[in-house]
Amino acid sequence: MSHTPLIAVVGGGYAGFAAAVTLARGGARVSLFEASRTLGGRARVMEKDGYRVDNGQHILLGAYSETLRMLRLVGVKPSVLETRRLALVYPGLCELRAAPLPAPFHLALGLLRARGLDWADKRAMIRLMGTLRKQAFRIDPDRTVSTLLAETQQTGRLTRLIWEPLCVAALNTPAADASAQIFANVLRDSLAAGASASDLLIPRVDLSELFPVPASRWLALRGNTVRTAEPVKKISAMGDGYVLEGDPWNALYDDVVIATAPYHVGDLVAGLPGLAPVVERLKRLSHQPIVTAWLAFDGPLHLPEPMIGMSGGYGQWAFDRGALGGPEGLVGVVISARGAHQDISREALEIALLEELQSVLGPLPPLRWSQVITEKRATFSCIPGVDRPTTATPERGIWLAGDYVEADYPATLESAVRSGIAAARSILRRHGLKEGNFLSL
Ligand SMILES: Cc1cc2nc3c(=O)[nH]c(=O)nc-3n(C[C@H](O)[C@H](O)[C@H](O)COP(=O)(O)OP(=O)(O)OC[C@H]3O[C@@H](n4cnc5c(N)ncnc54)[C@H](O)[C@@H]3O)c2cc1C
Repeated sequence: MSHTPLIAVVGGGYAGFAAAVTLARGGARVSLFEASRTLGGRARVMEKDGYRVDNGQHILLGAYSETLRMLRLVGVKPSVLETRRLALVYPGLCELRAAPLPAPFHLALGLLRARGLDWADKRAMIRLMGTLRKQAFRIDPDRTVSTLLAETQQTGRLTRLIWEPLCVAALNTPAADASAQIFANVLRDSLAAGASASDLLIPRVDLSELFPVPASRWLALRGNTVRTAEPVKKISAMGDGYVLEGDPWNALYDDVVIATAPYHVGDLVAGLPGLAPVVERLKRLSHQPIVTAWLAFDGPLHLPEPMIGMSGGYGQWAFDRGALGGPEGLVGVVISARGAHQDISREALEIALLEELQSVLGPLPPLRWSQVITEKRATFSCIPGVDRPTTATPERGIWLAGDYVEADYPATLESAVRSGIAAARSILRRHGLKEGNFLSL
């Protein structure tokens, strides 16, 4: 009988679970270790004062093909995602909505009908997309998004209301520092792709329940193990395999997928000298924060869309959780990347955000509860030429998975999932297995 490879996955975020499910589908046996009690990593639920909120409001795009495939594989119903045609709505300022037509007419008509943008803005948008298309979305790797916008003569309004907010939302890096090439990749696979690729998919369930929890159930049903509150301290080589300090079974693993954030890799592999150059590269990644302010009001709010843009203050986007399966009156305001909001206190920020919401929506019901969550290292800074490692490492049986691994995309759920799948497929190949070998219970 051929040997069933035993694989350890360290980290129970989206990358770790995508790797574990892919490995199990190929016939490997998987043990996943998660340090925290809650699954999901940087996309997880938190509980406070009876409220269940995410560590940060997330959106997915129709272009997240591998994440959507993974959700289907582990039996997640499509209705857990609120699917909306792309709508960038700044109440009273500007509205750009994709039309219900095949691409590229969905955007062309949307742009034609856009409110709050004049002809100079519309021509500039067509110019930028046309330039990118002509260059097959290839850009000099040193260019920043701001340079690209200046070179294609984007108007001030378009820059302020469309491009800069899209750049910060997608790359979590201010346009002045962000990689134009990665921004172009995102535009290529969303705005410039099939009409549904630019759809906004907003979870109606919490982020742990969206994928990690159903994936964990799926794995357990197939004889694999998922352990929470089980941090791995160190990975050491032993014979042809690896042992993990912190593993209650002291098992010998054929391969290990390290699916932690990049800043946790160094300690894990301190005993594997071959990985020192990889750790040095990871140390050079810089990071950007994301703030989510959860504001629960004593009554409903009337947002014109479940997600609206905010401009001119600290807040960037507001989400009406009441319209997304959450409690009535719960709103999440998101501030991505570094910025002026970091120079004021949490209390001052909360007051400013309440004033900004009021100026957009009119008088607000009384505030009942609030929680401002700052993820200091939400993602790596997506700057030109950022040096991202590959999933394979100089150690034959050690693989990296995570949103920071080399990819076309910035740090997103989709890049995390894709990296997990890529690591798993390489491992299956190494053991002469293929995904889909082992589909039944
Ligand atoms: C506030 C916020 C908002 C975001 N918004 C969006 C968005 O709208 N759309 C989008 O696509 N992306 C968004 N992102 C990015 C997205 O959340 C990440 O790209 C993705 O979750 C990264 O997944 P990962 O599996 O690579 O890493 P992680 O989620 O960091 O998972 C790593 C896991 O490893 C565990 N771990 C670490 N060390 C150990 C150890 N020694 N032993 C065992 N376990 C360990 C950690 O506890 C963690 O659970 C956002 C991120 C944040 C923080």
